[in-house]
Amino acid sequence: MNLETVLDVRHYSDGLFSFRTTRSDSIRPFKAGQFTMIGMADDDVLRAYSIASPPSADALEFLSIKVPGGPLTERLQHIQPGDQIEVGDRPTGTLVTDNLTEGRRLWCVATGTGLAPFLSIVQDPSTFEKFSEVILTHTVRTVAELAYRELLESLPITYYPTVTRESFERTGRITARMESGALWTDLGVDPWHPDVDRIMDCVCSSIRPSAINSPPMVSNMEPIGRRVSSCKSVRL
Ligand SMILES: Cc1cc2nc3c(=O)[nH]c(=O)nc-3n(C[C@H](O)[C@H](O)[C@H](O)COP(=O)(O)OP(=O)(O)OC[C@H]3O[C@@H](n4cnc5c(N)ncnc54)[C@H](O)[C@@H]3O)c2cc1C
Repeated sequence: MNLETVLDVRHYSDGLFSFRTTRSDSIRPFKAGQFTMIGMADDDVLRAYSIASPPSADALEFLSIKVPGGPLTERLQHIQPGDQIEVGDRPTGTLVTDNLTEGRRLWCVATGTGLAPFLSIVQDPSTFEKFSEVILTHTVRTVAELAYRELLESLPITYYPTVTRESFERTGRITARMESGALWTDLGVDPWHPDVDRIMDCVCSSIRPSAINSPPMVSNMEPIGRRVSSCKSVRL
């Protein structure tokens, strides 16, 4: 583990914040979509965090939930610029575009903090060498939780936010919009086809009750078929 200095912190809601830290030379190179471990440095609580910044960035960026009573985030949410936290020096993980077979269009389907790995992926130039089109969907409970909205709107991707518990231009679970066909109609694209589309998803366990004892972040990069059924357990 490595000590890194907090550079800045941004709070979006009482359940969500992001922060940047320094990136020491001892942090090994990583691929967009990978995760590392985070801790407060004065106890042995460590948790996995997707790196939200792209591999080329000088700093590391993370997007975090605030779990009431959570062993890490009850404390982590109070970090301030200048504080030091522990950051694992060996990022790892398989939610990377290298694990996808060749396709034309990449779909990144995120809920809540599941946005984090895709923030890295959509800011990584290699993504656009592999895919001519990138669509990112982000579903959250409240408009305030549409973190990084301005950044995502400025990138050469199609950004498709939906909100479940407040009025917004698009409301409801992403799975409902898939089942009704609204997702494809809204975007003016054909439904997923194995020749064209590759899908990555990152959905949090708290909205996937059947997976409570599994790792909170789920990725499934199999072509089309099981994608929709995997998302059906999403409850926002
Ligand atoms: C590979 C991987 C990558 C991860 N990346 C991130 C990330 O980028 N950002 C992030 O906030 N968390 C991420 N997590 C979850 C993270 O490791 C911690 O669980 C989280 O920070 C809460 O820690 P805690 O000690 O406060 O509570 P914990 O004891 O870890 O969790 C308490 C409860 O909160 C739920 N929970 C934990 N994390 C989340 C979440 N992100 N969204 C919804 N419910 C959650 C758990 O299912 C559990 O029921 C990741 C987990 C894995 C396995």
